[in-house]
Amino acid sequence: MTIASNLARINERIRVAAEKAGRDPASVRLVAVSKTRPAADIVAAYNAGQTVFGENYIQELVPKLAEVKEAVQWHVIGHLQSNKVKYIAGQVAMIHSVDRISLAQEIDRLWGKLGKSCDVLIQVNVSGETTKSGTTETGAIQLVRECALLPNLRVKGLMTMPPFFDDPEAARPYFAELRRLAEVIAAQQIAGVDMAELSMGMSGDFEAAVQEGATLVRVGTAIFGER
Ligand SMILES: *Cc1c(COP(=O)(O)O)cnc(C)c1O
Repeated sequence: MTIASNLARINERIRVAAEKAGRDPASVRLVAVSKTRPAADIVAAYNAGQTVFGENYIQELVPKLAEVKEAVQWHVIGHLQSNKVKYIAGQVAMIHSVDRISLAQEIDRLWGKLGKSCDVLIQVNVSGETTKSGTTETGAIQLVRECALLPNLRVKGLMTMPPFFDDPEAARPYFAELRRLAEVIAAQQIAGVDMAELSMGMSGDFEAAVQEGATLVRVGTAIFGER
């Protein structure tokens, strides 16, 4: 299987899942998770029409920022240490993994120095697994309120990573819960806060996520192969 044919199949599966749920397929964006994959794979995907790429590790992303000359859009999807933010300031379109105010403040400070603002998602640990990053649901509401006060940060929605299951349907309640939480926060009409984006769903369960309202699905293995 080539990257191009994998992408075509994933996009088709997204389309079918969206239509089943009565959603416009264009409201779902595919984030190609390129962690551990070489720049050549990113270029191959870009040449097949993929523009958004998700990376987890800053030490891996930084060399790719230089190597990949194509007009790709980078998203940071993994746990982010505050002291690493300086290496990517102004260079990524969205950070999905904001889970504490100290990190949000550092993003705000560094983007502000460049006269830019950064789109972020609040990562919520919906399952409460202790091994997972993310705020609690109550913590998310508080964090959104604090982030709303930072001038160079734009809160665009929520992100979650449910526990791993073999059965893709098992993750569905967590996706539904993230959407419910986004609705609760949106109803509070916090100035400057947008809850339009829901980043949820990976290779094994993105169709269930799309049916539950995902606007960003993060798919790695099903595009690039096993890591
Ligand atoms: C690796 C990763 C993905 C992609 O996982 P696949 O199962 O390879 O599709 C999605 N989201 C996050 C946060 C990841 O770390």
